[in-house]
Amino acid sequence: MGEMITRLAPSPTGALHLGNARTFLVNWIMARQEGWRILLRIEDLDGPRIKRDLVTELMEDLSWLGLDYDGAPIYQSSRRGEYATAIEKLLRVGLAYPCVCSRREVETAASAPHAEDGSTVYPGTCRGRFATMAEAQAFSGRPAAIRFRVPDQTVRWTDGVAGEQSCDVARQLGDFVIAKADGTAAYQLAVVVDDADGGVTHVVRGDDLLDSTPRQMLLYQSLGMAEKIPKYFHLPLVVGPDRRRLAKRHGDTRLATYRESGVPASRILGLLAKWSGIDAGEHVHDIRSLIGRFDLSLLPRSPIVCD
Ligand SMILES: [Zn+2]
Repeated sequence: MGEMITRLAPSPTGALHLGNARTFLVNWIMARQEGWRILLRIEDLDGPRIKRDLVTELMEDLSWLGLDYDGAPIYQSSRRGEYATAIEKLLRVGLAYPCVCSRREVETAASAPHAEDGSTVYPGTCRGRFATMAEAQAFSGRPAAIRFRVPDQTVRWTDGVAGEQSCDVARQLGDFVIAKADGTAAYQLAVVVDDADGGVTHVVRGDDLLDSTPRQMLLYQSLGMAEKIPKYFHLPLVVGPDRRRLAKRHGDTRLATYRESGVPASRILGLLAKWSGIDAGEHVHDIRSLIGRFDLSLLPRSPIVCD
């Protein structure tokens, strides 16, 4: 076996809150217990929603809690060439195609079935419709997005937390965007290219990303990298009293707010440890004292309610 590698991958579209921090803590403890190398990847591709101040802030948040990492941070915004190469490759072999549909067109397409969560499954309108990107653009008069042609197969995997999983991606999720019309690589594509290039072997993240996994596995396969598919661990999320994912409507749970109002990091770590199944008392003064005390089998299997 080669080196084991994981990554913390915050996105500076919003401040780090207790929910993200708890996922990062579990990931960090697992890595330090098992000797995995930890990469820090800043997911800053999302154009205007990225706020530079938040990059600085989230670095401060991580170091405040003692969540360290190995090597220099990797910025997705500096890796556009790598994403373009992968997208080109998929286009060239016919596993991706230009799509000129607007969001509205996709949503109102009569044939569009609806996924279980109410989101729209792309009906495949542009599959086989245009021979080239130029042809698509000439047709619609605007730049085309690029979609991945999802193969007709059920994807199965064993999640380290959520257990046996299967997904018929074509039916449940549909052909998904891998490059936006402005040329920016979409989330699923960028993550796969980065994880593969970084040699990532273990992905620990919130279970809101569970349905990203079969899409990412298909991308690995289509890019000829099936042997690089990592082991996945999807953690139950921290939710508000209304059982919805922790967010602004539940009040201000940003780490920066606690930090600035004088709440000690030890108190936050105590709370996050409790939410991770570690009974370490109200204050944890040294994050390293948690190493060796985490047991995946004791991780709460249902959402954590923050009130
Ligand atoms: Zn389309």
